[in-house]
Amino acid sequence: MLSGFLLLISLASCNRMDEEKYFGEGVSSLLATYRKATISDVTYKLDFAIPEGKEKPIRGRAVIEFSLTSKREPLLLDFRVSEEYLESVSVNGNTLEPVMTNGHIVIEGKHLAGKFNRVDITFRAGDMSLNRNDDFLYTLFVPDRASTAFPCFDQPDLKARYSLTLDLPAGYRAMSNSPVAASDTTNDRVVIRFAETKPLSTYLFAFAAGKFDLVEKEIDGVRMEMLHREARPEYIENNAEEIFRLHYQSIRWLEEYTQIPYPFDKFGFVLIPSFQYSGMEHPGSILYRATSLLLEATPTLNEQLSRASLIAHETSHIWFGDLVTMKWFDDVWLKEVFAGYMSDKIVSPDFPAINHDLRFLLSRYPAAYAVDRTRGTNPVIQNLGNMKDAGSLYGAIIYNKAPIVMRQLEKLAGEENLRKAIQIYLRDYSWGNASWDDLIAIIEKVTHEPLEEWSRMWVREAGMPVITPIIGQEDGYRISFREDDPSETLRHWPQTLQAMVITASDTVTGEVTPADRNSSISSKDEPLCIIPDISGRAYGTFLLDSATVAHLINHISEFKDPLLRGILWINFYENLVNGIVSPAEYYQTAYSALETEADLQIRNYLTGRFSSVYWDYLTDEERNAAAPHAEAMIRKKITDADAASEKRTWYGLYRSVAVTGSGLAYLHDIWKRSELPGGIKLSEDELCTLALTLGLKGHPAAQEIIASQRERITGDDRLQRYDFLIPSVSPDPAVRDAFFNSLRDPAGREHEPWVLEALGYLHHPLVAPRAGHYILPSLEMLEEIKSTGDIFFPGSWVSSTLAGHHSAEALETVEQFLDERPDYPADLRLKILQAADHLFRQ
Ligand SMILES: [Zn+2]
Repeated sequence: MLSGFLLLISLASCNRMDEEKYFGEGVSSLLATYRKATISDVTYKLDFAIPEGKEKPIRGRAVIEFSLTSKREPLLLDFRVSEEYLESVSVNGNTLEPVMTNGHIVIEGKHLAGKFNRVDITFRAGDMSLNRNDDFLYTLFVPDRASTAFPCFDQPDLKARYSLTLDLPAGYRAMSNSPVAASDTTNDRVVIRFAETKPLSTYLFAFAAGKFDLVEKEIDGVRMEMLHREARPEYIENNAEEIFRLHYQSIRWLEEYTQIPYPFDKFGFVLIPSFQYSGMEHPGSILYRATSLLLEATPTLNEQLSRASLIAHETSHIWFGDLVTMKWFDDVWLKEVFAGYMSDKIVSPDFPAINHDLRFLLSRYPAAYAVDRTRGTNPVIQNLGNMKDAGSLYGAIIYNKAPIVMRQLEKLAGEENLRKAIQIYLRDYSWGNASWDDLIAIIEKVTHEPLEEWSRMWVREAGMPVITPIIGQEDGYRISFREDDPSETLRHWPQTLQAMVITASDTVTGEVTPADRNSSISSKDEPLCIIPDISGRAYGTFLLDSATVAHLINHISEFKDPLLRGILWINFYENLVNGIVSPAEYYQTAYSALETEADLQIRNYLTGRFSSVYWDYLTDEERNAAAPHAEAMIRKKITDADAASEKRTWYGLYRSVAVTGSGLAYLHDIWKRSELPGGIKLSEDELCTLALTLGLKGHPAAQEIIASQRERITGDDRLQRYDFLIPSVSPDPAVRDAFFNSLRDPAGREHEPWVLEALGYLHHPLVAPRAGHYILPSLEMLEEIKSTGDIFFPGSWVSSTLAGHHSAEALETVEQFLDERPDYPADLRLKILQAADHLFRQ
């Protein structure tokens, strides 16, 4: 109440800046705060009439009811469409001449009642976030896209109850957040009315409708429904049971952990072909990318684990994000970090054969470092002045660094204390909103530990320390660690290291605090290898001394503990990136390790690194010299591997590295037979990728292969994707240019995963020189891409564009682009700096 009062005064003073913030585009924090202070008890009655096909307009009606405590400022409803989409507005029974400004419907105070208000609007829905296809559509409103489809208060802390009615072509099925209350079929239409929802933020309201198949399942009192469009029945037969079981298990686990029963009225999910993300946690109607859940007949352990983690992640959001939601999107990381934290706990017991500490290490650290080492990095909590910029907050820092930070918090607070605090937090803020500071306050209360300084450095500051060993000689050897702040502002990150020093006669371990000259570890003999941290919890750039580099080149695979090997490999790679380890040294070490590494997770990690050093660090001459050996080694691995999933992993690496004539002939042979040696069938998607790869790499029969692969495809969704991708591997520059130009039109970028895949081909390191002229226009399009694309898309667009390029010209294009635009949006500048890091380092 207090903040609302202060705000009214500042607004009433009619400062121009404030007026701009209030009435300007998007939802500014000023507008959001004012609305939160004055509006409550919001309900939406929404009707949409969905025609057949994807072109005809969708008509809608929204009846919005709410209480108001002040009429001082005009009421703004968000509706981001062109003006003619707004058809009629009536407020409390009186029809008004609609006024729209900057994507808001403006209603003067004089039309509003003292307390209870009812606004009735008829409109044409904007298509932007309705993901319309010929015979299905689905909404994806995160973070602020609900207002592109219907008028609403598009901010996370004005939760509302929704009553949705969909008027659909007969034969369509639909799913939304709440159960179906009634369904009437007349002639060629079906009208489905959904029950009123529990309170939801606008970004969590959702529906999907179209030609879907329904599978239902009940396990021990938990009823679940799944919609899908999979045409191949064996994919459903092979996967449905496990998909339901994983959801059931996650729900029960979360109920137990949080001590809060599943809070919403129903549970369901929809499998969407080429969905933008892996999953999106709409309560009652989670959306998934179909291929993330429908695995091939012999999935790799990694694929099984990823699926289980994804399901646990989205289900965790029901409590962390849906039941308790961040107040403002600057805290979006909080729901993500909790979903990740819970998902790790849920999935681990199901995979007892897996080393989960190693898995955490390999899945989080490399991805977090990849952004945190760049000039474009950001803190976990970022300032957000306007909801329209919320999409830029997402990225590796939220998804990968924040979980590492969360693990530190778990260690500081203790696992049981943290659980207790989480239970209090979820109970106290159920159906409402809360911030990071609210949670930290609860944890401090439970643990009696001050956490402010820790939180400031690890959550509110960007970047990471650079840690270097210092070897002193007094009474033997004394090793301490220097801490440098890459931004040269003398920041200090509180953490302790579990260091290890190996000498000819001994191995010593001990706890060391970086930056503290008195904190050290001693050895009698000269250190041969200094490992800054063996716990897998420390975070930073750990630069190696030359003796350690030499030791690791010869002995890295001899370390017995897989977690330690994982730590060493990650550090070794960071030292490659930082120029301490040479590409040839890294390549040779990885090559030898691939031949002998027994741990599946490390091997999977290494195949990725091997392919990245091969394409991104070796010169063309070095690569051509290395290729025959690499191909021969991997080909033998494909033949020798016992398990189908291992054969697949090696095959994936082979497809990536093969460049010689005989290498491509071998791939061609696999494509012809549609199977790997040993009779392992390749799926349709894998065969499409293989055909396109042969096209990219210039196999002499590529055009024939691509054309006949087209004939083999079953299913329209897959055929459309394939047709979309073909021009990106064309040897004809005119075809590639035409394809690139088609991306200038937002309609050409509608299927974002397809676009990213195509950019991967277009800018592949092998053909990067022929794609340099796409860099500048791609950067020029970035601002528009942010406004039309989904949240991960701008970052993925620029990184897919730049990843394959290593030339001085590419660097110059990027630098000049940024230099010429001093006022370029800060969030996009950071995304470019992240994506161009490898260019700056060359
Ligand atoms: Zn998530």
